[in-house]
Amino acid sequence: MFIEVNKIPPQGLEIDRVLQLQPLQLVRGEQVKVGDTRLSGTLRRSGSDLEFRGRVGAEVSLTCSRCLEPFRQPIEGPCHRIFRPGPLGKPESEHELVEEDLALTPFDGTRINLEEIAREQVYLAVPLKPLCQESCRGLCPKCGAELNTAPCDCPEARQTAEPLTSKLSL
Ligand SMILES: [Zn+2]
Ligand SMILES: [Zn+2]
Repeated sequence: MFIEVNKIPPQGLEIDRVLQLQPLQLVRGEQVKVGDTRLSGTLRRSGSDLEFRGRVGAEVSLTCSRCLEPFRQPIEGPCHRIFRPGPLGKPESEHELVEEDLALTPFDGTRINLEEIAREQVYLAVPLKPLCQESCRGLCPKCGAELNTAPCDCPEARQTAEPLTSKLSL
């Protein structure tokens, strides 16, 4: 979904759309499916820059880094980006990238892709080590049993999974 810059009125353009995003490709090689993504906020012209200020909400399908089970995680947060006309994918910009430039994205100066805005924000919000739940016990390193479901019979796993008292009564 593209918005032409010359169609944006001086007071800004209100955006509230549900977008379909392509799966994200993470650096570690994993693909993340993204459900309906809601982008809401205001797109404004400021000189030749374009500024978007609003929120992004989506639900991503992740794999738990401990138990390897798939789960869905909602992502919701503020989104603020500035688009400046300039060469796209300039190679030297990568190592010159500093913290304050992260919100500054080059664009072709004539139109802006809403999916692109939402996509970047969702990408940044995907956790590096996703957990299906904070207390996920993961898999037994010995037999591979899923410890969330039931403890396995491995002596090592038993030692950590069971409280001290049950060992004393054996
Ligand atoms: Zn898990
Ligand atoms: Zn085990």
